Amino acid sequence: MKGSQIRELFLKYFEDQGHRRVRSAPLVPQSDPTLFFTNAGMVPFKDVFLGREKRDFKRAASTQKCMRVSGKHNDLENVGRTARHHTFFEMLGNFSFGDYFKKEAIAFGWEFLTVSAGLDAGDFVVTVFQDDDEAYDLWQKVAGVPLEKIFRLGEKDNFWSMGDTGPCGPCSEILIDQGEAFGCGLDECGPDCDCGRFLELWNLVFMQYDRDGEGTLNPLPRPSIDTGMGLERLASVLQNQDSNYHTDLVFPFVQEASRISGIPYGSNDESDVSLRVIADHVRAVTFLVSDGVGPSNEGRGYVLRRIMRRAARHGKLLGLDKPFLHLICPLVGDVLGDAFPEVRENMKKVVKVVQLEEDRFGRTLDQGLARLSQLLDEVKEAVPALLPGEEVFRLYDTYGFPLDLTQDIATESGVDVDVEGFNREMERQKDRARAAWTGSGARDIPQVYRDILAQAGPVIFTGYEEELTRDAVVRGLVEEGKPVDRWTGEGEVEVILDRTPFYGESGGQVGDKGALTGNGFAAQVIETTKPLPDLIVHRCRLIEGAVNLGDTCTAEVMHSEREATRRNHTATHLLHAALRDVLGDHVQQSGSFVEPDRFRFDFNHFEVVNTDQLEAIEDVVNRHTLENLEVETREMSPEEAVEKGATALFDEKYGDTVRVVSIPGVSMELCGGTHVRRTGDIGLFRITHEGGIAAGVRRIEGVTGTKVLERLRADDALLSQLAGSVKVSVHELPTRMKKLLETLQEQEKKVRDLMQSMADGGPADLDGQIRETAGVRYLAAELPGQDATGLRDAADRYRDKIGSGVVLLASRDGDKAFLVVRVTKDIMGRFPAGELVRRLAPIVGGGGGGRPDMAQAGGKKPETLPELLETVDSVIRDMAT
Ligand code: ATP
Ligand code: MG
Repeated sequence: MKGSQIRELFLKYFEDQGHRRVRSAPLVPQSDPTLFFTNAGMVPFKDVFLGREKRDFKRAASTQKCMRVSGKHNDLENVGRTARHHTFFEMLGNFSFGDYFKKEAIAFGWEFLTVSAGLDAGDFVVTVFQDDDEAYDLWQKVAGVPLEKIFRLGEKDNFWSMGDTGPCGPCSEILIDQGEAFGCGLDECGPDCDCGRFLELWNLVFMQYDRDGEGTLNPLPRPSIDTGMGLERLASVLQNQDSNYHTDLVFPFVQEASRISGIPYGSNDESDVSLRVIADHVRAVTFLVSDGVGPSNEGRGYVLRRIMRRAARHGKLLGLDKPFLHLICPLVGDVLGDAFPEVRENMKKVVKVVQLEEDRFGRTLDQGLARLSQLLDEVKEAVPALLPGEEVFRLYDTYGFPLDLTQDIATESGVDVDVEGFNREMERQKDRARAAWTGSGARDIPQVYRDILAQAGPVIFTGYEEELTRDAVVRGLVEEGKPVDRWTGEGEVEVILDRTPFYGESGGQVGDKGALTGNGFAAQVIETTKPLPDLIVHRCRLIEGAVNLGDTCTAEVMHSEREATRRNHTATHLLHAALRDVLGDHVQQSGSFVEPDRFRFDFNHFEVVNTDQLEAIEDVVNRHTLENLEVETREMSPEEAVEKGATALFDEKYGDTVRVVSIPGVSMELCGGTHVRRTGDIGLFRITHEGGIAAGVRRIEGVTGTKVLERLRADDALLSQLAGSVKVSVHELPTRMKKLLETLQEQEKKVRDLMQSMADGGPADLDGQIRETAGVRYLAAELPGQDATGLRDAADRYRDKIGSGVVLLASRDGDKAFLVVRVTKDIMGRFPAGELVRRLAPIVGGGGGGRPDMAQAGGKKPETLPELLETVDSVIRDMAT
C-alpha cells in the first residue's frame, strides 16, 4: 500500500467514526510563541483541550506536519542513524474533545490496525501507565490482547502532561514486536528498550486530570483523547520495510541524493547515513521554507539554517562540491504535493531560498576549511595538541561548522577538540538566542480580557460598512489591568462595548481613533486594539464626566483617518498583485502595516527592486485604480477560500469562516481589514521607499490619495529651496550643481596638495636659500602647492625681507609651471623683472613679461623647473656685466 493510500485509509476510517477531517496546521505554531515548531498532532488543538476555544465538532482526525528538532522533542542526532526518526514527519491522530474516552480510543485504534490496515494482532504489544488499571483491563477486554503482551511502565514513558499545570493523564502505546533479530538480545530487553526491536507506532493519551499549582491531580469533568502515530512508521510496517527511510514517502529522496552524488545506496554505512540525512533534511527544509520560515541567525530561522548546513556537509562527505539541495526540493512537491498543496504552490520560492543559502554556505565552507587548517598548524606541535573551544565555536558560529565536522578534520591532524569549551560557548549563545526569542514572541494575553469576554460575550464589529457612528452599551471597564465598574479619574481607561464601529488593530491595520460620548461623559479614543479574536478594546482618555458599566454612548470613528487607512489597505492588495506581476510569482507577503498616513509592505525577493521595476509596479497599481474596479468582500469557509485561489498568510489564525477581499481579475486575499468600495477611491498611488530588511526580504513604503499630493508639494518646495540657495531657477539647478561640484573637486585637490606640501615641511622658511652673486642678493626657489596668488604674496614678502635684490618663486600644477619675479626698486634699473622672465621662461617651455619691479610667466614643462632655478645665478651675472 502506498503512503498516500495509508494516509487516506486512516483519515477515512476516522471520518466514518464521526470525526471531522481537519487540514494540517502550519509547522509554525499559530498561537503558541513558546513553541518553535508544531511537534505533535494536538498542538493546533491546544486551546480546544484547555476549553479556551470552541469548535463545532467534538471528534477530529488529521495528518499533522511535525518537526522535532528543538526543545523537548529533539530527534536531530538520531536522524539517518535510527530507522524510525525524522526531523520532519507526519503524525496521524484522532482526537476527542470531551466526547469519547479510553474505551473507544482503544477500540478504534485496535480496529484500525488489525482490521482496516490488516495487520496481524499477534505482532503487537501494548504498554500502559503503571497505575492505569482501567486501560490494562480494556486492552484485554476490548482488544483481546493477552496479558503477557500488556506492559506497565512508569511515569517517564507513559504519563503525559501539557505543562507543569493543566491537562495531563496516562498514556498507552502500541508497539510492534519486530522479532529478536531486530533487538539487542539482552535479557532485560522490553518495550521500553531503545534497541529497535519494539517499534513504537502509536501513542494514545488519555487526558483525564487537571494538575493544579500544588501538583494535585483533579479529575477533568470531560476527559479527552489525543493520539499520535507516525505515518512513515506505519508505512514501513505496511510496506514490509525495515526502516522509514525505505518507504515510498522517503526513499525517492535517498535515491535522488544517490543519483546526484553518484554514490550508490548500500555501498557503505557512512555514505548511507549521509544519503538518509540528506533525504530527511530535504523534506524538512522544503516544508519549513514553504511554511514561511527563512534562514536566519536566530529562532526558527536558525534551526532551518543548521539543518541546511548539516545537509550540505553530508553532501560534501559524498563528494558534492556544488549546491545540490535545491535540486532535490521539487521532488517533495511530487511525493507530498497531493496531501500538502502548499509545497507545490511555494516551490519556486523554496528553490530560490534554498539555493541562496546553499551558495552562501558554499562560500563560508571553503573559508572555514582554510581557517581550520591554519588553526591546526598552530596547535599541532603543542602538548597536548588541543583546539580551543572558543575557536571551535567560532568555526561553528561564523562558518557554520558543526562540531563533528571540526572533530573529524582535527583528528586527522592528531589534534583533540575542547568539546567542553565549545559547549560552554554554545550555552552562552543559546542563552542569547533564548533572550532574543522571548522578546520576539507574541504577547501573553492578560486574563482580565478573557474574563470580560467570558462575561460580556463577543463584541460585534459593525464598522465594515459605511456606518462609522453608532450607539453602544458599555460592557467592560479596565483600569491598569483591573476591571472596574465606574471611571471618573484622569489618565487612561479601557472601554469595552457590546458592539462598535471601531476597528481594533489586527492583520497589519492600525486601530481606529475617535470619540465616545454618553449621557454625562465624553472620552477620546486614542487607540483601539484587539487582544482576542472577539474582543475589541478602546483605550480612552476621559474629557469630562464619569463612565459606568451599562451606560449607553455614541461611538464615533474619526472619518478622515479611517478613509485614509482604507485607501492604503486596498492599495497594499493591489501592490501585492503588482509585485507578482512585475517581479515574479515567488513574491509573497511577509508582513505589512497600514496607517492613515502611509503603508509599508514586506515581501520575499532576492534583489534590489530597481527604479524601472518600481515605476512598472506603480504603473500597474495606478492602472488598476484608474479602472475603478469594485472591491468585493465575502465570507466563506477557509477551505472554500483556498480552493478559489485566495492568498492566505501562513502565520495568521483563521476561524471557521474567513473574509475574502477580492478585486476581480487582480487580487483575492483572506483579510479582515477595512477596504475602499472601488479602487478609484484610492486616488493616486506612489512608492516612497524601497529597501532590504533581512536576507531575502524587501520592504516597500508608499502613500495614496491626498498624501501623494502632499508629497509632490513637499518635493516642489524642496527643489525651490535648493535652487534659491544657489541663486538659480529650478531648471538651471542641474547645470549649476554640476559646476559647483566641479569647483569643489578642484578645491579639494588643491587642499590635498597643500596638506601634502605642509606634510613635506610646510611653507618652508626660505631665508636660508638667499644667495649672492656679482654683488646682488637673490632668492630662487620652488613653493610647492601654491597657486598664482599664493606665489605673488610670498614673493612680495620676500622682496621686503631681502631689502635689496631679486626674488623668483615658482610652483607647478599638473603639467603647468608658474613663476613670479620681484625686484627691489634700487636695482630694478639694472635687473628689470620683465627681462629676467624673458630670459628664463623658455627653459620651462613658456614665455612672459612684465614691469621692471614685477613680472610673471607660465610654462608647459614643469619638470625643468629645477634647471631654471639653477640658471638664475648665471643670468644675473650676465646682466651685471
Ligand atoms: P520515540 O520514543 O520513538 O522517539 P516518542 O515517544 O517521542 O517516540 P510521541 O511523542 O509519543 O513519540 O509521538 C507519537 C508518535 O509519533 C510516535 O509513536 C511515532 O510513531 C511518531 N514519531 C515520534 N517522533 C518521531 C520522529 N522523530 N520521526 C518519525 N516519527 C516519529
Ligand atoms: Mg521521541
